[in-house]
Amino acid sequence: MLRRTKILATLGPATDKEGVLEGLFMAGVDVVRLNFSHGTAQDHIDRANAVREMSKKTGRRVGILADLQGPKIRIERFKEDKVWLDNDQAFALDINLEKDQGDNTQVAISYEPLPKEVVKGSRLLLDDGRVVLDVVNVEENLRINCTVIVGGYLSNKKGINLLGGGLSAEALTDKDKEDIKTIAKIGCDYVAVSFPRCGADLDEARRLLEAEGCHAGIVSKVERAEAIVPEVMDEIILASDAVMVARGDLGVEIGDANLPAVQKQLIKRSRELNRVAITATQMMESMIDNPIPTRAEVFDVANAVYDGTDAIMLSAETASGNHPIKAVEAMHRICIEAEKQAVVRESDHRINEQFKRDDEAIAMSAMYMANHTKIKGIVALTESGSTPLWMSRISSGISIYAFSSQEKTLGKVTLYRGVFPMYFKLGENQDHVEVNRNIVQELRKWKAAKDGDKFIITKGDLNGVEGGTNALKVVIVGQGLTP
Ligand code: PGA
Ligand code: MN
Repeated sequence: MLRRTKILATLGPATDKEGVLEGLFMAGVDVVRLNFSHGTAQDHIDRANAVREMSKKTGRRVGILADLQGPKIRIERFKEDKVWLDNDQAFALDINLEKDQGDNTQVAISYEPLPKEVVKGSRLLLDDGRVVLDVVNVEENLRINCTVIVGGYLSNKKGINLLGGGLSAEALTDKDKEDIKTIAKIGCDYVAVSFPRCGADLDEARRLLEAEGCHAGIVSKVERAEAIVPEVMDEIILASDAVMVARGDLGVEIGDANLPAVQKQLIKRSRELNRVAITATQMMESMIDNPIPTRAEVFDVANAVYDGTDAIMLSAETASGNHPIKAVEAMHRICIEAEKQAVVRESDHRINEQFKRDDEAIAMSAMYMANHTKIKGIVALTESGSTPLWMSRISSGISIYAFSSQEKTLGKVTLYRGVFPMYFKLGENQDHVEVNRNIVQELRKWKAAKDGDKFIITKGDLNGVEGGTNALKVVIVGQGLTP
């Protein structure tokens, strides 16, 4: 059985080890993440090359997502690597302190606006909320004096979030702009923008990428409190090709208890607006150390599938964990079982809507037919990938094969739930019968079809024009004019 939910795995030192990348391919990874918060440009180039080599070797197309670091605000460094903070003690964040001179009373910060953006009583969350500070006062916009509310160990370069959000930092930093050039050279399928505040941040990223000749899909990481205000949420979703529920930073800003509802809302709204959803962070966290997930993690993955996510993401579990391949295998087996449940196969998506475009209406009709008759799969001949995207917004258990000769389209659909990329080139002057025969042969070659299977094929006038889908054909393998 094919798994519909896509697995997105972050690459890192653990996956650089001999045989691990191949293991991830075998376990069924669909997309990899190059995390530009860590490593050098060359590391990312090398990893992208390794992925492409492996795709060639295995015949399995795997998408590449580059994740920009964004304006993550961090403390600087301590004289010792880490310090211990007691509850109720005083601790200060200081712009003027030497960068490596932190101790258990103070540490340097380099984000200069921070003292202006907090007031007495603001709550700062460090290291994903493990350490909590309340602001007592701010001295001359240079030094923030705090009381430790929740103490513990604090080590170099840990992140700082403001409870409730509202830090003004621009989404694209100078480093991100530099990294965009590397990403364009690599030619990634997706680029993730960290901490976007509004649609304009995403437009800006798209513009900078296009100026470098890169037409990657834009992924917005929803990880700021202000990004989930309803109007802003819609604006961000519409400015993106895919939306990531970035539960790590988002949970720190809005409080962990608010995450489940927001995850459901973000996934639902993204699908309604014909966008793709990724659920990220700590899905298999305990597998960084252990070979099996906790029961809670099993439920988390299954619940994300029930919520309708397109993809589920692994971060440190694969990038630096002890069991990267087992983490992908565990996600795979949980998805397969979750996807057998009726709730993920039924749909009332856009049931009362009028469609303006014929190609969109054909995509919807194909899904309606597939969900209400016995259909083995759908083949969408596609230039831009829009048809399989529309189709995959409808919950169903039917495989959608995106047949395209466009590399960038094949790369994009690796992220769409239930959609499988297949390279397919139309011959010169082929008629519809010939094309259908070739499609069926291709399905047979990949063992996706056998005698008697019924498939739907959607296509246009065979001239390779975007938006040209105007036909829906039903074929039965081995009958009539099909091989
Ligand atoms: P990160 O983003 O892993 O780059 O921090 C995801 C998240 O915040 O959940
Ligand atoms: Mn984040």
